[in-house]
This record gives sequence, C-alpha cells and structure tokens, in this order.
Amino acid sequence: MLNPKMFRPSLWLTELELPEFAVRGAVIIGQHRAVVWDTLSHPRDMALVRPLLDNKELIIVYSHADWDHVWGTVGLDYGEEPIVAQAECLARFSTDAPVTLQKKQTTEPGVWDEVVLVTPTLTFQAEYALDLGGVTLTLQHLPGHTEDCIVGFIPEWGILLAGDTIETPFPIIPRDSPLDQWIMALQKWAQDERVQTVIPAHGPIADRTLIERNLAYLQAIRDHQAIQPPTNLDDFYQETHDGNLQWRGPEG
Ligand SMILES: [Zn+2]
Repeated sequence: MLNPKMFRPSLWLTELELPEFAVRGAVIIGQHRAVVWDTLSHPRDMALVRPLLDNKELIIVYSHADWDHVWGTVGLDYGEEPIVAQAECLARFSTDAPVTLQKKQTTEPGVWDEVVLVTPTLTFQAEYALDLGGVTLTLQHLPGHTEDCIVGFIPEWGILLAGDTIETPFPIIPRDSPLDQWIMALQKWAQDERVQTVIPAHGPIADRTLIERNLAYLQAIRDHQAIQPPTNLDDFYQETHDGNLQWRGPEG
C-alpha cells in the first residue's frame, strides 16, 4: 500500500516501487484547493491520497501521459474534478496511451483490470498557473522526454516538480527528441535562483546541481561526445543509456 510521506508542511510525496523502477508523485495542499500531481500506475496507488485532501477542491495535474503517471485517477473516487495537462497530453489519450494499456492488460492478465484512462479536461500550451490559496503551482511545457512533458514550480517554497524532464542517473531520450529545446529550458531553470529543491518523478530529490548534471548528459548526447556512464547501472538504465546513444534529432 502506497503511504504518502510528508516532505514539508502541505506537501506530500507519493512514492511507488514498480518492478522495473520507482516513480514519485506529489500532493500540494493549499488553503482552498489541493493538487494531486500525477496519479501513478494503478487506482490502488491513490487509496491513501484522498483522505489527505481534507474536503478541499481537488485539481489533478498530469506531468505527461506515460502509464506510470496517469493510470491511478479513478482511485481518487474521481467525479468531475478538473484534470490539467499540456495539450499534447490530451492528444496521447487517443493515440499511444490506450495502446499501452491494452498491451499491459494482455501481457499481464488481471493485473491492470481496474485501470481506467481518464482524459485531461483542461489543457494549456505553454504555461498555466493554479492558485491554491496561499500557494501557487505554475505549470510550464518542457518537451523532450515526451512531447507533452511539463514541470511545476511552487515559488513560495522554491520547489520544482520536474516530472520526467530530470532524472538520475539520466533521463530517457527518444530518438527524435528536440534536445536543443529541452536543454534551453533546463538551462533557464538551472540559473533560476528561486529553485531550491528539485523533485523529479524518478531518482533522488536534490538541489539545482541535479539540473546541471542532467544538462551535461543531454549536451553530450546532442553533441555526440564520448560519454562515460556511471558504473553499476542496472539493466533498466543500461538499456536506457544504449537507447539514448541512438538519438538522431527531430529531423533524423
Ligand atoms: Zn516516468
């Protein structure tokens, strides 16, 4: 059972160990509204989240449409609450998201039966701000890992929710990723002195130096420089690194 952990007052982290990797979401409680940042992989992952919301108005935010981030929504006793995401995230609910669910339901019978895909109801292109009462969550499009990736910045607390745009030991880079755009956006956050804490969906929480380490890796991949990956990579990240080396860019 996923037990949310308090990270600081009014901010809880939802951390889940999947067989292949771990994933992390968040719950932000404002005076009037509460945000669930990603609903993770399965409705049962959200069982202990609803009680945290304390009858505040619920807003769900999807960091992107990958399965480990958006499959738990009905576990929040989902009614008609707004689900905010970047416009490309909504589009993926008609393309790859149902395909992935069907694949997993076929290869692992019984395991994913309770999952229902719940599409975003409110989309934005570049930026969107949510006033929760005493605390703000600013969402920004940051494509690269997928076309619909976003980050969420909480200025009052100096916290950047990085989703899958930042990861340890390195992010997953599709072959046609717009790496120039990804790097430019991360450079902006790396230089933003308001950011004290970076909370990614995968890998340890850290300060802004985590952004610098990801930038160095992304730049080396883009520039086809020799990379010495960290030793002792597990199978998942060894495969990820081998895949990342196949990067050719949007035109390639
Ligand atoms: Zn992920």
